[in-house]
Amino acid sequence: MEFNIITIFPDFFDSFKKESLLKRAQEKKLLSINVYNLRDFSDGKHKVVDEKPFGGGLGMVMKVEPVYKAVKAIKKKKTRVILFTPRGKKFTQKIASEYAKYDQLIFICGRYEGVDERIAKYVADEELSIGDYVLMGGEVPAMAVIETVSRLIPGVIGKQEFLKERISKIKGRGGNAFVEYPQYTRPEVFNPKKGSSWKVPKVLMSGDHKAIAEWKKKRGKVIGK
Ligand code: SAM
Repeated sequence: MEFNIITIFPDFFDSFKKESLLKRAQEKKLLSINVYNLRDFSDGKHKVVDEKPFGGGLGMVMKVEPVYKAVKAIKKKKTRVILFTPRGKKFTQKIASEYAKYDQLIFICGRYEGVDERIAKYVADEELSIGDYVLMGGEVPAMAVIETVSRLIPGVIGKQEFLKERISKIKGRGGNAFVEYPQYTRPEVFNPKKGSSWKVPKVLMSGDHKAIAEWKKKRGKVIGK
């Protein structure tokens, strides 16, 4: 899996790429994360990537030519070009499973007051939102999608058993939906202040694997239905 990010702020991804599981996944060659500076695809001395909107309006708009050139230079065969925008379809666990089937994903991170509409119409395969709120740019959405999709790539989060335990057994939903249940670790009882005692549910200490599995099932919330 190859993740490609087109952004005017490539430095955002420096530590993101170099930490923890994603770092190890890249070392093991399970995935690669390539960051492209949009300005490198802009002509002219000043590497301009934004202009005032036609017809007036507040703020600047990201130009179509540099984005088109960047995507053209990066694009390979089995690829999906994703434009981040708050008006796009909402990102879900199910969409992450679909993305995990591609060899290559290309993310276009918008900034300013948005992007020239021709990017959505002719360059991107789809518009994606990570929620009903407006961020400053598409960099945080790109990180959210990369983390979610990477977890689904075999070997990235270590043993596959971890994933298996979480995958919903709901009919027809296996592989897409995840079960999120409450988790506890030591100490068994935490007394933050006098008179309060925060306890771990007894069933988790019982050693009764069937009862524990039942409890997890009952308390779990399915993500990605
Ligand atoms: N009016 C603009 C629009 O509708 O796209 C808002 C632009 S926002 C300030 C700048 C960029 O942040 C957008 O072009 C988009 O790439 C990204 N963005 C903001 N909120 C987002 C969200 N909820 N999901 C995905 N991308 C988002």
